Amino acid sequence: MKSKDLLYKGKAKSVFTTDVKDRLIVEFRDDITAFDGGKKDVLENKGNYNAEVSAFFFDYLERNGVKTHFFSMLDPHHMVVRRLDMIPLEVIVRNIAAGSLVRNYPFREGSPLDPPIVVIDYKDDSRHDPMINDDIILGLNLLTAAEIKKIKKVALEVNRLLSDLLAAQGITLVDFKIEFGRQGKTIYLGDEISMDSMRLWDKKTGESLDKDVYRFEKGDVMAIYDKVARRITTPVKKP
Ligand code: C5P
Repeated sequence: MKSKDLLYKGKAKSVFTTDVKDRLIVEFRDDITAFDGGKKDVLENKGNYNAEVSAFFFDYLERNGVKTHFFSMLDPHHMVVRRLDMIPLEVIVRNIAAGSLVRNYPFREGSPLDPPIVVIDYKDDSRHDPMINDDIILGLNLLTAAEIKKIKKVALEVNRLLSDLLAAQGITLVDFKIEFGRQGKTIYLGDEISMDSMRLWDKKTGESLDKDVYRFEKGDVMAIYDKVARRITTPVKKP
């Protein structure tokens, strides 16, 4: 498969059309950004770690009945995916209070959220991704009422599956963000699921194993991305 034209360039990924119908190539670049692009750097191999973990999660989710855009990896930072019309929403699932939830509401950092909280933001950097609600989603014709219900259900299923997988590696899934897109009438999970889009805490030490290390300068980002990618993708030894 050959990549053709650049279709979209985001803050950390580029998307290319290909010579195959309805297939796109996503390039995971080494750019890392935070705070609406206010902080940015290029970190060698960062794209590879995120691509590897995303591919691993997409494959696992597919095997457990979740429809994703993932087909295969072309090389360590190029992923072949199904062409989707992306829905400009960020669906966030939270198991533990952290980040903007603690900044904006009187939750105590680290307190468990049971049942998990689902938050949906409107994806638009120029508006700082404001939180959206069902009525606004319907008003903007982004989804039908049935589709809103469906994506929330899928988000909670992804949460259950990823929480279980990560728990087995001694990692707590604090929260994560996913995005969806359509091909025809079918909605698929798109974008990426990686250390850039999740909060992961080491179960024993509470250490951050995700982009918070970069956001808040908690340590050597690449050493941590390398360590966590190995931990996530290494099969758990059965006793
Ligand atoms: O910042 P906030 O606490 O709302 O983020 C919740 C989760 O969603 C975090 O895991 C964060 O990395 C992810 N997120 C993201 N992209 C955004 C906003 C949040 O991946 N634009």
